[in-house]
Amino acid sequence: MCFAANQHINPTNVCVLRNTCVFCSFARMPQEEGAYTRSLDEVFAEADAARDNPTREFHIVGGLHPKLRLAYYLDMFRGLKARHPTVHIKALTAVEIAHLARIEKRSVTEVLIALKEAGVTSLPGGGAEVFSPAARATIADKKLTGQEWLAVHREAHRLGLPSNCTMLYGHVETMADRVDHLLALRALQDETGGFLTYIPLAYHPDHNELGEALGRTGTATTGFDDLKNIAVGRLVLDNIPHVKTHWPMVTPFISQVALTFGCDDLEGTVVFERVYHEAGAGTPMWLSYDQIVGLIRGAGKEPVERDSLYQTVRTFEDWVPGQGVARAAGPEGPTFQISHRPRARARGQQTGPALQGVGSAERRDPSVPGRKPGGTLLTPGASPGVTRSMSRVRLGRIGYINCYPVYGAIDRGITPLAAELVTGTPSELNDLLAAGELDLSVVSAVEYARHARDYVLLPNLAISCDGPVRSVALFSHRPVGQLDDRTVLLTASSRTAVGLLELLCRDVWKVRPHFAQARAEAPDLDALAHLPHDAVLVIGDAALLLAAQHAYPHRYDLGEEWKRWTGLPFVFAVWAARRAADHAAVRAVHHTLLAARDWGLAHLDLLADAAARATGVDISDCRSYLAGLDYALTETHLAGLTDFFRRLAARGLVPDGSLQFLQVA
Ligand code: SF4
Repeated sequence: MCFAANQHINPTNVCVLRNTCVFCSFARMPQEEGAYTRSLDEVFAEADAARDNPTREFHIVGGLHPKLRLAYYLDMFRGLKARHPTVHIKALTAVEIAHLARIEKRSVTEVLIALKEAGVTSLPGGGAEVFSPAARATIADKKLTGQEWLAVHREAHRLGLPSNCTMLYGHVETMADRVDHLLALRALQDETGGFLTYIPLAYHPDHNELGEALGRTGTATTGFDDLKNIAVGRLVLDNIPHVKTHWPMVTPFISQVALTFGCDDLEGTVVFERVYHEAGAGTPMWLSYDQIVGLIRGAGKEPVERDSLYQTVRTFEDWVPGQGVARAAGPEGPTFQISHRPRARARGQQTGPALQGVGSAERRDPSVPGRKPGGTLLTPGASPGVTRSMSRVRLGRIGYINCYPVYGAIDRGITPLAAELVTGTPSELNDLLAAGELDLSVVSAVEYARHARDYVLLPNLAISCDGPVRSVALFSHRPVGQLDDRTVLLTASSRTAVGLLELLCRDVWKVRPHFAQARAEAPDLDALAHLPHDAVLVIGDAALLLAAQHAYPHRYDLGEEWKRWTGLPFVFAVWAARRAADHAAVRAVHHTLLAARDWGLAHLDLLADAAARATGVDISDCRSYLAGLDYALTETHLAGLTDFFRRLAARGLVPDGSLQFLQVA
């Protein structure tokens, strides 16, 4: 089981893509607080600061600085080589190499040859993220494409520079994106044989715009996901000699376990890790020689120190902890300090790709022209710098395909909208409207009942069904009558569906399950399957996907159950505006929404096609799903809505109240 005694050096965090790589917490604009660019003397001093460590490899990556030229890097590598002749230099991602080629007006080949001549031994694998054009358009819109990243590595391999490869997972990518990414790496390895190791990298959500948009902090992946990625990577990439676990991202504990899940290589001593710790990684900044050896031995494996090219440097049969050459502590001083970005997006910079919300179907549908001008998903507690820079009316939009018929024309620029669009799950939009972060939004019907004193309803606009709805369902391992005292997971994304399920359980099915909340959006379904439960309430696109998987023997459509119980339609979502909002502006948006809905209902085939591409659900199923929903709010719908509110109020779940509408005349 091998590791390298390596040292990370990040010469600059200034990056021209700072506002478009929305998953990155490391980069800064040139004048932004925390921006730094090291002089060559500072880089040499940083390398010297770890001299007491038995460093065998410098791992050097940084931002795409608009003014740092190729000569700066060549002088750096020659200088490091002169000072540390036995240390390998693994430097510059494919993205940095392509950037240097662009600003030098030279070819990638010429830059690679110059790097090799200056002492670079191999290339790191960063910048690959996930190759899917749709995911890339969402998280790294202006970055090298996947094909371009592969082309740089292909050329490096041809020139005799081996490299590593990576995949960033746990953000907006789908499982299919992960598989496609691995297959692309595998294909290039078949062609060149130049990859040394594959390193899955877990996304970290703190201090970056994507994390804010997803409403996630801490870690975005589970230990299960981390281990699964490693195991799948090992199986698919059987032509790449090594798989490395990156402990700064997944913790030394997971890395230790990963050594029996397909990894034969452990990220090394590192000395000072900046990129992931600025994204909130709570792992140590470095591991000492003793710690690494102990970690590998603790997994029942024999440690082997390697160099950059996986040549054995030493083995440890006679190693006695505490008597090694490495110091236990890392280097100190201002160079070795982490400063988190005060805000995810640089002030005044609005050039980045518009983020769609968690589970947003459109994020996987780059053909929707409305993606870019679409809104940033805001969450309570999101950066004030983001939320308060908006001056127009702020309108919420659920990211599920069930909103396509209302927002499709707006997304395509067919119906101009004088408002800032904000995309999220129903629960997220509920909270944002309640917090005053939105002026109007589509919200859970039950949310209107809870805040009726603060909201007005927008007339003639709602999402309802008169029978099966298909996208709000209880999936159960046993008949619903057997759920007494059983565990039922409730999606954290909806309140109306939860309220309806509670009513059905008590008043219709006469069972009292134990309810527990769970994240149940489409990307969560794999993890959800491993949570102990007897049934789970899922809504939106995730419900359509789960139904297609046939993973549960029993499925209860809540729209159908309500209809059978009451004989009425069920209203899941309404459009509500804050009473304090500018009513003239809200009326204008209401008018736009009605016009957009008319266009949407006349173009269901087109919208079903977009929905199928976004979700992977069969197009005919998408078509019949959208056609089965109703977007009006007539007397019949109001009868269903008030009946639902009455039943909830009788249970003390919402206050008594009446429906108040926006005055549109
Ligand atoms: S991920 Fe790399 S290219 Fe993108 S902003 Fe961060 S440093 Fe720059």
